[in-house]
Amino acid sequence: MITTDAPEFRVGLAAVQAAARLTEAVRQEMVSGAGAGRLDKEDRSPVTVADFGAQALVARALEAAFPDDVLVAEETSAALREPANAALLARLAQFVRQQVQEATEESVTAWIDRGAGAPGGRFWVLDPIDGTKGFLRDDQYAIALALLDRDTVQWGFLACPTLTHKGQAGVIFVAQRNEGAEAYTLDGTAQGPVTVSDVKDPAAARLVESVESVHTNFGLSGSLKQILGITAQTLAMDSQAKYAAVARGEADIYLRSPNAKTPHYREFIWDHAAGWLVVTEAGGRVSDVRGQPLDWTQGRRLETNLGVVATNGHLHDAVIEALSHSL
Ligand code: AMP
Ligand code: MG
Repeated sequence: MITTDAPEFRVGLAAVQAAARLTEAVRQEMVSGAGAGRLDKEDRSPVTVADFGAQALVARALEAAFPDDVLVAEETSAALREPANAALLARLAQFVRQQVQEATEESVTAWIDRGAGAPGGRFWVLDPIDGTKGFLRDDQYAIALALLDRDTVQWGFLACPTLTHKGQAGVIFVAQRNEGAEAYTLDGTAQGPVTVSDVKDPAAARLVESVESVHTNFGLSGSLKQILGITAQTLAMDSQAKYAAVARGEADIYLRSPNAKTPHYREFIWDHAAGWLVVTEAGGRVSDVRGQPLDWTQGRRLETNLGVVATNGHLHDAVIEALSHSL
């Protein structure tokens, strides 16, 4: 059972809840069909506002509760401070003020820049909007926050504001090292433990992978399906919602391997830390595509790992063995 009276739990959950309220407000106003501020399809400003806004809110919450903790987050405010982006910054500050009344343009950029910490020791990792393409398509995206301590992930908070869980729109998966994974509604109501599937026959498995072909290797997943005899249609999802799909038994295998066009790509820690713990604590296993454990001590990227495989655990060895023939 997760320690719900731990300050890390209270603060981490509240931080991603506030961030999700902001990103959903931006999505409804600037991305969804009915929104008055809706912009044309090529405009990336909705995701920019949501991304910076979510980072500002999480950084502010962590600063207040754990002033000595380092935050390693994806964004910096340098571009936002340019005069050409003044309107964007004003819009961003408006959205942040809906959550934190006293926010100003200055405080918002300062909060964002608290995310420029260096990995090491005890530190938080944040992807304020994981799956930006999904966000812009009105599809899946995640706010992914994790607390690392030296070589492992201690807490993971994975908010999936557009994922339906137990009939409720939006869900936050929380995992604590050695204590399990649980689901919460966006307003913080507990929805119980989360566990992986029981599928043991590789041929009966369902795969989940990225929507965007440049972020993974569809050829490799195709040959994996062939080798294992998988016939179920692959689930395509943006963001770390893929880890959630494995953690709650909706899919049995998440495969991510560098695209042939970017063979030297190494994964960022903020794209995996929260999801890794949620799957691990839901009873699954996560490694890289060669079966090596993910090494969190290498800085901002998983420098020594190649891609990621997350499974329900039962299927892990079979998947790694099958991949060894195709890699
Ligand atoms: P997904 O939602 O699975 O499509 O993955 C989104 C994440 O892919 C982003 O957060 C990026 O950090 C990451 N990404 C960007 N470029 C690449 C690449 N060439 N290969 C793999 N992942 C990438
Ligand atoms: Mg990301």
